[in-house]
Amino acid sequence: MPMDLPTLWYLTTGTLLVAAAMTLWERKAHAQRSRELGLWACAYAVFALGCVLAMNRELLAGAFGPALTNLVMILGYLLVLQGILALDGRRLPLILTATLLAALGAAWLLAGQASVSLFWNHVGAFPIALVCALAALALHRSRVAQGLRSRPIAIAVLACHSLFYALRAFAVPILAAVQGEAVLVIVAKSTMYEAVLFTVAMSMSLLSLVREEDRARLLATARTDFLTDLNNRQGFFELAPRHLGSEARGASHSLLAIDLDHFKAINDRYGHDAGDRVLKLFADIAREIAGPSAMSARLGGEEFAILLPNMRGEEARLIGQSIARRFAEAAARSDGLAIPATVSIGLAEASSQETDLIALLAAADHALYRAKMLGRNRIEVAKPGQVVRAA
Ligand code: GH3
Ligand code: MG
Ligand code: MG
Repeated sequence: MPMDLPTLWYLTTGTLLVAAAMTLWERKAHAQRSRELGLWACAYAVFALGCVLAMNRELLAGAFGPALTNLVMILGYLLVLQGILALDGRRLPLILTATLLAALGAAWLLAGQASVSLFWNHVGAFPIALVCALAALALHRSRVAQGLRSRPIAIAVLACHSLFYALRAFAVPILAAVQGEAVLVIVAKSTMYEAVLFTVAMSMSLLSLVREEDRARLLATARTDFLTDLNNRQGFFELAPRHLGSEARGASHSLLAIDLDHFKAINDRYGHDAGDRVLKLFADIAREIAGPSAMSARLGGEEFAILLPNMRGEEARLIGQSIARRFAEAAARSDGLAIPATVSIGLAEASSQETDLIALLAAADHALYRAKMLGRNRIEVAKPGQVVRAA
């Protein structure tokens, strides 16, 4: 279906205004990204203003109309870039923005008057290609966007747009020289058609980035214990199998099941707040001693689990003993909590080809029960063969 140029301009303007309104609406739901969403909504509104100026550029004297339109459009792209940089707390230096706009303005002023169509069709496309390429690069380097599913899509959208404008700047002049001016009409229509697609794809992918980041944050919160900042039970059972899955097949893994001794009595004697501080102290010590390759979790109340991937039982036993000793010393120190607190630990090792986490925890729990029975403040090891696979 053939479309005339004004219809395409109206369509682009409308799409941009809808994108701006939707982004502003979404901004209310994502307070942590209100700056980024605000910048992008502003960018779409600026693009829409650029479209209105473009449609009426002939009404303004000489090259002033096209020059102003071009500058407004570049400002829009700079706002998109600024929003992407803001994801990582970075910002485009004001001097750079001002220099780019001033250089473009000066170029229009000095040479644009004499060759409006050359500038409008080709020269003005170059800074757009440049800023878009920078935006794609900034997103590629963004630490925050790393791992988000929409990131490659947003990068591809920006990169394709940059390529399109690079072609307008460098390839179309050659094509027009060979094929004649008729090429420019096709290019103008393609530009507007691409603008509609770009507006939809860019606004959707940038919104998705923010939504996915929010979802990831909620998921992390749902898997984290509020008091100790360790994984909670849900986090442990969801993440531990993945953790083990990344280890070499057939490796041995150890698991420590830990329970604070007479914790009810600690609460009764020192108060619930002091009990909370004891829990936090234990979590900090366990995290530090077990190290980054371990997966520590508060399974509930005063019960903890530490999964030690790729570790034999003997080494895990030393780690368990070290945690127990350091915790008892730190809790009892008079300049700290001054609370006599100890832990009982059950240790189980899985040396089968496939680790069944439930069976491993059950075996460690069994050993922990024995440690309690034998008088507490000790570590007991599950007997070989006690880790029975559930299925
Ligand atoms: P045992 O040596 O046999 O493990 O005895 P225990 O007193 O540690 O075990 P019990 O299961 O009888 O009591 C656990 C206590 O842990 C009871 C509960 O009030 C307390 N508790 C559970 N969650 C929290 C918490 O988040 N903060 C505090 N301060 N106490 C908690
Ligand atoms: Mg206990
Ligand atoms: Mg308990």
